[in-house]
Amino acid sequence: MESPESNRSAVLPRARWQDGTTWGLSLIAGYLLLATLPVVLAFALRPSSQEPVLEELGKACGLMGFALLTLQVVLAARFRVIQRPFGLDVVMQFHKAMGIMAGILLLCHPSFMVLAEGNFWLFSFETPWQINLGKIAVIILMVSIVFAIAFRKLRVNYQIWRFLHKGIIAAVVLGFVHGMLIGPDLRPLGMRIYWWMLFVMAISIVLYRNVFVPLWGRWRFRVASVRSETHNTFTLTLEPEDERQVPYYPGQFMFLKLRRPGRASEEHPFTISSSPTQRGAIMATIKQSGDFTNTIDQTIPGDMALLEAPYGRFSFMHHNAPSLLFIAGGVGITPIMSMVRYLRDIEDRRPIRLIYGNRTERDIVFRKELSGLPDNVSVTHVLSEPEENWQGLRGYVTADIIKEHAGPILENAHVYLCGPPTMMDKIIDELRSLDVKDRRIHYERFAI
Ligand SMILES: Cc1cc2nc3c(=O)[nH]c(=O)nc-3n(C[C@H](O)[C@H](O)[C@H](O)COP(=O)(O)OP(=O)(O)OC[C@H]3O[C@@H](n4cnc5c(N)ncnc54)[C@H](O)[C@@H]3O)c2cc1C
Repeated sequence: MESPESNRSAVLPRARWQDGTTWGLSLIAGYLLLATLPVVLAFALRPSSQEPVLEELGKACGLMGFALLTLQVVLAARFRVIQRPFGLDVVMQFHKAMGIMAGILLLCHPSFMVLAEGNFWLFSFETPWQINLGKIAVIILMVSIVFAIAFRKLRVNYQIWRFLHKGIIAAVVLGFVHGMLIGPDLRPLGMRIYWWMLFVMAISIVLYRNVFVPLWGRWRFRVASVRSETHNTFTLTLEPEDERQVPYYPGQFMFLKLRRPGRASEEHPFTISSSPTQRGAIMATIKQSGDFTNTIDQTIPGDMALLEAPYGRFSFMHHNAPSLLFIAGGVGITPIMSMVRYLRDIEDRRPIRLIYGNRTERDIVFRKELSGLPDNVSVTHVLSEPEENWQGLRGYVTADIIKEHAGPILENAHVYLCGPPTMMDKIIDELRSLDVKDRRIHYERFAI
């Protein structure tokens, strides 16, 4: 067991009311209120109108579309108070869906107005410049949304895409000016205050994320060691520059930015693979799989590491489970290893089963440590392309394997699953076929 500095007391995040369902529901209600309020206010604060229905619809789309656009900035800001009840992945999925919704509304806004007025030119000299500003905003937004949906297919580097995505703030600025100058619905004082409030909120958050967080909002660590786990997976041990401990639940993740001489400094999400019982250091176990991770073995002790943490809800700590079934594939073992280490260190005696799938024996991460766990933890390895002399299970993790190795606990166990996307989709189906209810299946996708 490799936990020399571990002890039974852990530095965990303080349980807060923001973790609960009531806070989650309040956030949803607040979001709906802020998104729809401009339309409600516009109708409430103005004299009765005789405008054509299309024009009315167009204006309503513009008002709500702009509100959604500014709220996008809030969703993308990684505020812990917002992600705590849902998990960051859920918040980011919602962010994507609402981005498309805002785009549709803001495209409908000029389309309906143009149809109502019968002026079909995209840009013309007769059109007031304030209206053209709005059209430019919609074009910027459309390009950004299409790019956000297609950047993977277009094989655009993630960092370049992220940088360009920030250009959406230009659409917020142009949309704000356009509305203030031309929108008749924004003349009443109440509406002007609301419009300003949305704008100031969006700009403040952009400044917070792009100025405050990089300068003061990250934990400062140094790389203490780089250890090879397999031929392509490495564990970085990071030690804080001061005495402060990052409080985290086992299974949570961080955004890690390494400062290495001669290399661009990029931020990437990685699970904290150590246990919160380990004082004085935290670990990230990283598989070489792309531009940045392929260089992870070139990290050296002393390199600076800036962390934003903790994030995520993938942890048994949120559930009252009488027994635990962990299923991992490849480097998806990292959050599960953090949980297993924690359970071991606090001497939790619940029945625990771990089924771990890999391609070959040399791909098994943490193999030695996994073979020395306490008696209540049983570990089953499954290899899809093993050498001939492999004594263990062959193939993929299936319902039969789950039943055979976790059968006795399946009735009430909570299941924690992390691995490649296709493996996870397949195993979720297999678990359902074994009558494991969705509320007992928890998973982490390595994508946000
Ligand atoms: C919650 C979470 C936990 C993770 N934990 C681990 C872990 O413990 N060990 C591990 O090896 N990997 C982990 N990953 C995956 C890891 O973040 C990616 O492998 C890494 O970012 C790929 O970067 P790259 O430049 O090497 O590859 P690229 O080929 O450039 O990127 C491959 C894909 O990774 C994603 N990605 C790249 N950069 C970022 C970024 N800055 N932010 C978000 N996504 C990005 C994008 O979907 C991209 O298409 C985790 C991912 C998430 C979301």
